[in-house]
Amino acid sequence: MASEVIIGRYVGSPVKIPSDRDAVSGQHVKISILDNGRWKLEDLKSSNGTFVRDENGEFHRVFAKQIQESDIIRLGNGGANSFVFAAHRAFAQDDSYVYEFKQLRKLLKHQKDKEMKQEKKIEITGWISKLSGLAVIGLCAVIGSIKGINIDPNTRYILIASAPVVVGLIFSGDTKRLKDLRKKKERILLCPKCGRPISEFDIELGQCSRCKAK
Ligand SMILES: [Zn+2]
Repeated sequence: MASEVIIGRYVGSPVKIPSDRDAVSGQHVKISILDNGRWKLEDLKSSNGTFVRDENGEFHRVFAKQIQESDIIRLGNGGANSFVFAAHRAFAQDDSYVYEFKQLRKLLKHQKDKEMKQEKKIEITGWISKLSGLAVIGLCAVIGSIKGINIDPNTRYILIASAPVVVGLIFSGDTKRLKDLRKKKERILLCPKCGRPISEFDIELGQCSRCKAK
C-alpha cells in the first residue's frame, strides 16, 4: 500500500524540525512510497527550496524526484537555518539512528578506500619522479654511444635536474585530487541528527558525542 508523509515546521510533521531552522516552510516537502516500492519526493512550493545530495556530496535543487531511502535531503538553501536528514527518517518509527549510522559507516569506508588508492598513486609517482633523473642519465649515455652525439655536461645537468620537476608537473593533479577527497569527507561526515561534523570515532561507535543520537 502506498503511503506518504509531509515534512515541515507544522506540528504534526513526522520529522521534527528544530525551531531555529526557519528556512524550512510549514509544509515543505512530501515523501511517498509508491505501490511499486519506489520512493518519491515532491517540493511543496517551499520558500527556500528542497535539495538532494549527490555522490560527490553536492546538493542539487529538486522539485519532484525519485529518491532512495538512503538519500540525504536538505530543506532550505544551505545556511545554518536549513535542515538536513536522510529520506529514511520520513518513515522511521522511532528516534533510533541505527540506519543512518550504518549508511555513514559505508560512506566512510568508501571514502577511505578512495583516499588510500590516491595515496598509493602519489607514492608511485614519487618513485617515478626519483627515477626519472636516472633515466635521463641512461638516455644521455645511449644517445652518446649510438649516435655519437656528445651532450655537454651543463645541458646534461639541466636535463637530469629538471626531469623530476617535469614528472611532478605531469602528475600534480593527483595531489589535488587527494585534497579534494579529504575536503569532501569533511563535508559529508555529519551527524544524522544535529547535523554537526562528526568524528570517524563517533561513526564507528554509532553515536554522536554531541547530541547523543545513536
Ligand atoms: Zn549529533
